[in-house]
Amino acid sequence: MNRIATANNLKRCLPSVNSVLQEMADAIHLRGHSEVSKVVGICSDGLRQDITQGANLEISINRIKAASIEHLEEKNQPSLKPVINLTGTVLHTNLGRAVLLQEALDAVARVAGAPSNLEFDLTQGARGERDSHIEGLICELTGAEAVTVVNNNAAAVLLTFNNNAAAVLLSLNTLASQREVPVSRGELVEIGGSFRIPEVMLGSGCQLVEIGATNRPHLKDYAGAIGDNTALLLKAHISAYRIEGFTESVSESDLAELAQKRQLLLVANLGSGSLIDFAALGLLHEATAAESIANGVDIITFSGDKLSGGPQCGIIAGGKELVDQIRKNPLKRALRLDRMTLAALAEVLKLYRDPVSLINKLPILHYLTRPLADMQQQAQRLVPEVQAALSKTFQVASKTGYSQIGSGALPIETLESIVLSIAPNDGAIRELSEALRALPCPIIGRIHKGELLLDLRCLDDEDNFLQQLQLLAGA
Ligand SMILES: *Cc1c(COP(=O)(O)O)cnc(C)c1O
Repeated sequence: MNRIATANNLKRCLPSVNSVLQEMADAIHLRGHSEVSKVVGICSDGLRQDITQGANLEISINRIKAASIEHLEEKNQPSLKPVINLTGTVLHTNLGRAVLLQEALDAVARVAGAPSNLEFDLTQGARGERDSHIEGLICELTGAEAVTVVNNNAAAVLLTFNNNAAAVLLSLNTLASQREVPVSRGELVEIGGSFRIPEVMLGSGCQLVEIGATNRPHLKDYAGAIGDNTALLLKAHISAYRIEGFTESVSESDLAELAQKRQLLLVANLGSGSLIDFAALGLLHEATAAESIANGVDIITFSGDKLSGGPQCGIIAGGKELVDQIRKNPLKRALRLDRMTLAALAEVLKLYRDPVSLINKLPILHYLTRPLADMQQQAQRLVPEVQAALSKTFQVASKTGYSQIGSGALPIETLESIVLSIAPNDGAIRELSEALRALPCPIIGRIHKGELLLDLRCLDDEDNFLQQLQLLAGA
């Protein structure tokens, strides 16, 4: 028989989809009859094609079944999944920023799987306010009178500017969207991901008035820029970069005094912001929410998932009347938090009532204050294991390295850290780094000067890390 005739014969012998399905009861139970039969069809077609192209295959029900199960598993892999962050950037925006503590995860599960009193006042039996679940807590921690929360800090800034009422409150009936906001030239920052202060202001409809010189704005520059059309003063904290050398900046309290004298509001975007003093932990000082409120800022905005260590959200805190007006903005409805985020945020905030256990319990603080000796011991345990998994193609050693905080928080602070450095003998670093990223729980490091560096600062599940390496060795 010629080849084509053999192939035609083989194709005729392919088991029917139904005969394969009869052997796949478990898969059908898990994924449903229509899905499994679709996949069996695809896999049978694939085999048929292979045979037509000359592949010499033994065709059996088992072969189609095995191919179908593999296909189904691949298809049902989650796209969004946990990874092991060994990049050395603790708050990595691309890797989801702050890791949540167990109490917060439990709270998410509780409210996600059942109806909740999200917007329902249980004492009155009437509609409630979703902010009520966290407002008291944040007021307690910041000294603010009132609080509202939205999707992220970018939304908080947008909402604050878009808030017509804030401007109306203190002056004429004009809209804030047509009014001026003086900002120091040194504060017109881009913090990444297309969030740039000038464009956000443009987008929210107010008119930016640049004042001062980049390195040295003065109070008189602000005073000189205030006119009939000024809506409010903005202090935009610069995360992401620092101006050093011949510099000066105007303090919040001086700005607050000026704003009050001229009957204007002072709004401060704190960026990361913080609910505790990081200087007390031996790190650089980051503006705390409580300081800004005490300095007389009318409205502050900051992120929930940066140094505060919570879920992604933006916090707006300040005077009650102003916050109430912001809440009434139709945009608030579009930017509101969902129940899972609120539940997680409340648990994280509660921890702040006990600053002593906070450091151990809040993952972000645990990572940032992790002792070098701890990471050194971990490196000693891991170097031989990693070396064994990678065989002789790579050389593994432990070294001193530097982690950064990330997400624009404390931008010039670096933390001495311990890294595993993996240098090539005859292996390829790029391929190794790709293989680590392809693991079921991907391991993400960084390549520096031809070496793959795995920063240990954020490695707390050592067993999982080693299990993944075993899979790599097996591959
Ligand atoms: C991070 C940051 C933002 C944006 O906050 P998100 O929570 O990422 O939306 C805005 N302004 C500054 C100064 C920041 O550092």
